[in-house]
Amino acid sequence: MWKNYRRLSYAYWEGQGDPTKTLIPDSVMEPFLEGVLPALPFFDQKVIKDHRDVLVAASLWPQNDSIQFSKDVWEHIGGKGRREQLDSILREKPLRHLPQDHPFFGRSGGHCDENGINFHFEGTLDDPIYLAHETGHLVADHQGSASKNVAELQAYFLQEVAYDLMLTKHPELSNAVRIHRLQEYAVLGRQLYMADQLAQKTRPDNRDEDGTVFTAHRHAFACVMSLKIYKVFKGMSTQQKERALGVLFDSGSGASLEDILGAFRLLDHAKIKQTGQEFSQFLSSEADYFGFDLHRHAVTQVKGQLATVKL
Ligand SMILES: [Zn+2]
Repeated sequence: MWKNYRRLSYAYWEGQGDPTKTLIPDSVMEPFLEGVLPALPFFDQKVIKDHRDVLVAASLWPQNDSIQFSKDVWEHIGGKGRREQLDSILREKPLRHLPQDHPFFGRSGGHCDENGINFHFEGTLDDPIYLAHETGHLVADHQGSASKNVAELQAYFLQEVAYDLMLTKHPELSNAVRIHRLQEYAVLGRQLYMADQLAQKTRPDNRDEDGTVFTAHRHAFACVMSLKIYKVFKGMSTQQKERALGVLFDSGSGASLEDILGAFRLLDHAKIKQTGQEFSQFLSSEADYFGFDLHRHAVTQVKGQLATVKL
């Protein structure tokens, strides 16, 4: 059991708490990867990022507009009540500004801790999208439902709502929004692929070529799942939505992954696998829209070294 939970995980994770609360169990991770990996597209990450940076920088977002937008996101999913909830939490724990020279956030972005959100605003489309993500952490923390293995799911759910609402409210930004999402999710999809290599022992450790630590258990799992749970959410009645948001954010004692997947009718091998497949299809169709050249890779192990074979 212990060994199984460590699969696809941080190499340095050992001893860092209860694995059943920290990691995604194999019963979920296996069908998930079974679905996502075979059709996962690969891009030249630099090309997609360059496109994204140009489009994103062209959309100006004054700080107050970004803050209002993140409140609009909550109102969009849960009505005035959820907007007021966010307002009240932000009064209790006001936004703090990260210094310009913060090592991780010289660009737009931030993090959330028990004192609230620390954020660096850059004035571009990144701000409202990433701020919405942080409000997911903020509300979950405040409501006592931020367990380690679901915290990113709560945040990416809000990020996914932000993309959807941005496309509706600002159709003129449609390309910038779509490529923002494509790049974000393609980077995380690539982490899943590398995590699988780690599990197959065709990759020596959990660092990518830039030295960045990756794992399948947090952001990467969360972005794939949130794409699906938001899709399910949109098809729900108002009452069902309230209940589902309650399971996601209001548990009071740490939300359970099983409860969340159950609330979105996804606690089932076939549905989890399908969720993975839909993610890969989504990335491929968005890449086609932007005309990115896709290719797939198969990886074979040669004396402990990585050899990537183009199919
Ligand atoms: Zn996060």
